[in-house]
Amino acid sequence: MLNCDCLFCKIIEGKIPSAKVYEDDDMLVFKDIAPKAKVHLLAVPKTHFALLSEADEEGYAMLSHILKKIPGIARANGCGNGFRLVINQGEAAGQTVPHLHVHILGGETLGW
Ligand code: 5GP
Ligand code: ZN
Repeated sequence: MLNCDCLFCKIIEGKIPSAKVYEDDDMLVFKDIAPKAKVHLLAVPKTHFALLSEADEEGYAMLSHILKKIPGIARANGCGNGFRLVINQGEAAGQTVPHLHVHILGGETLGW
């Protein structure tokens, strides 16, 4: 279910434009608007849940699907030499958009 106040739900619905690189029934991957690496993608489940800790069984199934798809998507987008995945949970970790998302960072040699 989508959340009408959520930025990423609006992107999923196409109400806010994004540079999509992959989409299927359960997930969307698009370019981060303020990239922190040469390649910076965001993978989001199409069902709204704010935090990893709020995921239910459907959420975990979507997350599993996302993790399965990511290596191929990363490779197709210039991260063949490696990539980093980040999930920020909560304010203290710097989460700014309360819709679970996996950052995919790569396209260059990454420092820590
Ligand atoms: P967080 O800090 O919540 O882990 O990550 C949110 C990410 O969303 C940030 O890296 C930020 O640059 C990205 N972001 C915020 N607003 C937009 C937007 O309107 N479009 C896109 N493509 N990315 C966004
Ligand atoms: Zn949402």
